[in-house]
Amino acid sequence: MTTRKLRQLITGQATRDGAGVELVRVIGQAALTELDPFLLLDAFRSDDPEDYIAGFPPHPHRGFETVTYILDGRMRHRDNHGNEGVIEDGGIQWMTAGRGIVHSEMPEQERGLLEGFQLWINLPAAHKMTAPAYQEHAADAIPLERRDGASIRVIAGSTSQGTRGPVLQPLTDPLYLDVSLDAGSGFDETVDSSYNAFVYVIDGDVEVADESGKIRSAARDQLALLGAGDRISLRAGEAAARFLVIAGKPLQEPISRAGPFVMNTEAELRQAFADYQSGKF
Ligand code: MN
Repeated sequence: MTTRKLRQLITGQATRDGAGVELVRVIGQAALTELDPFLLLDAFRSDDPEDYIAGFPPHPHRGFETVTYILDGRMRHRDNHGNEGVIEDGGIQWMTAGRGIVHSEMPEQERGLLEGFQLWINLPAAHKMTAPAYQEHAADAIPLERRDGASIRVIAGSTSQGTRGPVLQPLTDPLYLDVSLDAGSGFDETVDSSYNAFVYVIDGDVEVADESGKIRSAARDQLALLGAGDRISLRAGEAAARFLVIAGKPLQEPISRAGPFVMNTEAELRQAFADYQSGKF
């Protein structure tokens, strides 16, 4: 087996989106424009309602999937296909925008901490215009796998020990894990060698070897981009660590993107704007 080495440490860029929500864009910014099939990763964490209260009023999407994972807080979403729900601590919403959806994502709280992530996963050309779909899974529907010194919440895909998350998406085969490690404990997992993979540190420090064999440390709020290999091998530093491990099958297709639409060509992008403006979503 070949262990994936650290290729690059990436720090997200503070930005605002929606109606003025403060967030950190980790994928989808200059330092990492995309990581096929992942188009965007936003992290949000604030206990100041001024940073999140404006939320994300109704807006469209076409051509990909959005995955919202709430660590702390409550977020209500509603779309023009009749779906509505509240994502709470430890819950996820997996939305396949497909040919088009208009939705809102609004905080369901006026104070306290709101912390979580939104990940955009691309759809292959042949599936971009699929019917919109929607899944919501509360914390108790997300299995917890326990290993020596580690506990792993399996949000999507399957682990090498056979724990299956509530979402299996064969098109990009995403693996989405939320891993908690005791201080000094290790975490090893097999991942298909053709997939792109990264780690995002939520708390603590995560140690990973770089290409020269040197052990490097990824800190809170850093993304560790991993190189080629069929195995991920990480270790918590002197404190306990919590981090996301995300991997997926690259689509290797051209990307044409603008705001909430991600297609393969400029013509398809223009069509997306035209269809949205004429109310076809
Ligand atoms: Mn959205």
